[in-house]
Amino acid sequence: MSDNHYKILVADDGEDNLGLLREWLSSQDYYVRCARDGREALELARQDPPDLILLDKVMPEVDGLSVARQLKKEERFSSVPIIVLTGREDTRRHAIFDEIGADDLLTKPLVYEEVETRVRTMLKKREVFRALERANEELRHANERMARLIQFDEKTHLYNYRHFMERLADEFKRARRYGNPLTLAIFDIDHFKSVNDRYGHVAGDEALRDFGQIMVHSARETDLIARYGGEEFTSLLPQTTAAQGQRLADRVRRTTAGHDFLGPGRSDPIRITVSAGVATFPINDRIQKPEELVQAADMALYRAKEAGRNRTYVDQRSLPEAR
Ligand code: GH3
Ligand code: MG
Ligand code: MG
Repeated sequence: MSDNHYKILVADDGEDNLGLLREWLSSQDYYVRCARDGREALELARQDPPDLILLDKVMPEVDGLSVARQLKKEERFSSVPIIVLTGREDTRRHAIFDEIGADDLLTKPLVYEEVETRVRTMLKKREVFRALERANEELRHANERMARLIQFDEKTHLYNYRHFMERLADEFKRARRYGNPLTLAIFDIDHFKSVNDRYGHVAGDEALRDFGQIMVHSARETDLIARYGGEEFTSLLPQTTAAQGQRLADRVRRTTAGHDFLGPGRSDPIRITVSAGVATFPINDRIQKPEELVQAADMALYRAKEAGRNRTYVDQRSLPEAR
């Protein structure tokens, strides 16, 4: 018995019991701390949370039961077992478990073998609690990671396609209900294949991240920026007209064209241009579904590409004067 480096807190106002428990438990190599009343027990427990607490039920001022009750309310003590010491004549022993939430009970006069067994069993329980806590912690981390993966794109840390589509559906409903304009801008980097061919995929990835940041910095807080896929990005703009969307898209486009990708000071800065397509619901009254807003913006993007790239094209039906 030499690896018992558990910390045990013992509280008893009776010198005899306290001395006995200190002696017995120390002889088993437990690290024992003693309190002579409830107040001291609370103080010592909070100073350095033990692995197990032995509490005399009857103590002056703050008794063992209220110590147990108070500690069990605190998160950090929820997995610390508590053994209550009580007299053989105690008629309300069940209350110790039911009302206080103590874990076990030892009757006085104390018997060495019994104390040893109970302490051991409770410390085992403590180990199980701890393992459970660790497993819960891991589960929580895994869940957080899952939640991140479900809505974010790992490469650019922008929202991903899936999250974009969900929010698009929500915003579409809202725009329909309140009759507010909802604008979508789709961006597609020009000749991105040749960026990869010239500088490699790692540099290409870096450029995608940089471009994502340009989009984020050009947007308002209510705008939803996402990576739609590959080198295509979207900006969903609630309560925004096509003309306003066009201004945002042009701002992104100009910033991109003037930006040294892969950081300033490179001898061969990578220059990139981007094309954008803009469409607005419900100004374009042919748009009935979220996917049709995407199609309209996509078609406008195609026009921008066709017209020579590095430009923004607005779906003509999305402009009020065109109707
Ligand atoms: P366009 O001006 O017509 O848009 O030409 P493009 O070369 O940009 O378009 P294309 O669709 O032919 O090629 C898209 C390129 O984007 C090809 C693909 O390898 C690259 N790409 C897509 N996703 C990633 C990525 O995550 N990382 C890198 N490095 N490249 C990507
Ligand atoms: Mg593309
Ligand atoms: Mg492209």
